[in-house]
Amino acid sequence: RNQPVTVTVTGAGGQIGYALLFRAAAGAMFGSHTPVRLRLLEIPAGVRAAHGVALELDDCAFPLLASVDVFDEADRAFDGTDVAVLVGARPRTAGMERKDLLAANAGIFGPQGRAINDNAGDDVRIVVVGNPANTNALIASAHAPDIPVDRFTALTRLDHNRALAQLSHRFGVDTGHITRMAIWGNHSNTQFPDVSNVAVKGSPLAGSQLDRAWLRDEFIPKVADRGAEIIAVRGASSAASAANAIIDHVHDWFKGTPAGDWTSAAVMSRGEYGTPAGVFCSFPVTASGGAWHIVPDLKMSDEARSRLAISTDELLAERAAVAELGLL
Ligand code: NDP
Repeated sequence: RNQPVTVTVTGAGGQIGYALLFRAAAGAMFGSHTPVRLRLLEIPAGVRAAHGVALELDDCAFPLLASVDVFDEADRAFDGTDVAVLVGARPRTAGMERKDLLAANAGIFGPQGRAINDNAGDDVRIVVVGNPANTNALIASAHAPDIPVDRFTALTRLDHNRALAQLSHRFGVDTGHITRMAIWGNHSNTQFPDVSNVAVKGSPLAGSQLDRAWLRDEFIPKVADRGAEIIAVRGASSAASAANAIIDHVHDWFKGTPAGDWTSAAVMSRGEYGTPAGVFCSFPVTASGGAWHIVPDLKMSDEARSRLAISTDELLAERAAVAELGLL
């Protein structure tokens, strides 16, 4: 048995928390030899729900679950944490302007960044899920000056997995046979799901398989707008698939991505592929040694570059709005 890993989940009393915590406690993040300590953070209104989840976790008698604790205070919730999963966020409500949404979330992710900075374990890794995830990651990292910025990420793995599923349907193969998918840009509907490097059973897609009209009119909107489709059909936003993507993201960060493949995650841009430095941007990435690496030297068409630019322009606008409010 390995040393236990401490995982703090914010918004732990919500829908994603409910779909995430049981799988984390069962060993899905770090494998069957690594016990997990769970620390659940909630706002006061959510604490009771989080306590309810803790009771149910107890009742599962998971052999790998070393402890569960509930907090309504960030400094304590992040004490000694190895993995921080930042799910809790202020949702956009009717009539709310984007500026207000950014400000409300800065009020959550700024203090959480500081609490992680001051209390988390030396090797802490952070994944931001709550929207606007890329900009919330920027705010949190800006408030954590002692933590290398490469430890902060925003989740785009659900977008990546959604794309794999659509390709699986299109080409009639299991998702496990599809490699080298890439999500670029912001975790919003400006994202660019890019199939230009995709291989099916190890073979690059042939020109005839890359039907441009299908890509433009069906595939890209299907992936980019899937969140809205889930809400329309299910009557609630995606939760189990979001939790599954969090598990995949953390698992690969610790265990590495398979040889010959990559995945997608939003990491701090240093200007790779012409993106603006200083925003959290989704890239094709590999993981090894507990670190993400942007896949280098991919060819990008002019169209791909212009699609990516639309999304990074949105990231720049979000950063500017937050900076203008004095929140960075
Ligand atoms: P969910 O658990 O369903 O979602 C939480 C966040 O995840 C939302 O911001 C949501 O964004 C975001 N998200 C990102 N990607 C996805 C995706 N692909 N699918 C669905 N959601 C995604 O929300 P609940 O309202 O059920 O629960 C939130 C909990 O957080 C509440 O219990 C609340 O009390 C708590 N909270 C905790 C805070 C804290 O710990 N400090 C702060 C604020 C809230 P979007 O809204 O855009 O769908």
